[in-house]
Amino acid sequence: MSQSEQPAAPNNGPGAAPLFVLAGPTAVGKGTVAAHIREHYPKVWLSVSATTRPPRPGEVDGVHYHFVSQAEFDAMAADGDLLEYAVVHGRASYGTPRKPVLDAIAAGRLPLLEIDLQGARQVRERMPDAFFVFLAPPSWDELVHRLIGRGTESAEEQAVRLETARAELAAQMEFDATIVNEDVGVAAAELVDLMERHASAAG
Ligand code: 5GP
Repeated sequence: MSQSEQPAAPNNGPGAAPLFVLAGPTAVGKGTVAAHIREHYPKVWLSVSATTRPPRPGEVDGVHYHFVSQAEFDAMAADGDLLEYAVVHGRASYGTPRKPVLDAIAAGRLPLLEIDLQGARQVRERMPDAFFVFLAPPSWDELVHRLIGRGTESAEEQAVRLETARAELAAQMEFDATIVNEDVGVAAAELVDLMERHASAAG
């Protein structure tokens, strides 16, 4: 799509820049691929999520996440300001601020969300024309191994993690495309290429 054909509709209108969603199993490296894209592909508009988890060293508020209190997060959710949100790993809340995404789509940018599977399913319901990319591990065995850990967990915890892995791997069927994360630079390049090709086909 050329810049002169910017869509008025936030989603799904003819020529609308499609919204891309990158999701995949726990520990597959979604965050690393997103970070690589943030650094090397300024033409991609990467959504900045809100989260209640504390910043890690080197993370900048407003760049990597909007770091908010639980009360602030709950208010955003209650006001309908989040396109999707979820509690991830039972630890913290994460959500995608809605308005910046709609603005990026309307401006004909290449908008990308990097979110978990629960969030991807919510976006699928709300924006069915979005394009969903599953980031897959080079080997399923390796992912299961990483999820189960080194045998330090209880049998019960291992069973929970194995079940999580199974469910997450099965989710691949819900996606429009799969990219294998063998090498972060290659996976990022494949994703951006897919986005560009899809965007120009939509235009
Ligand atoms: P981390 O805390 O390691 O940055 O991210 C943990 C998980 O949260 C990752 O699986 C990431 O995809 C997911 N995540 C990050 N932002 C969002 C968001 O806005 N919504 C949802 N549903 N998941 C998110």
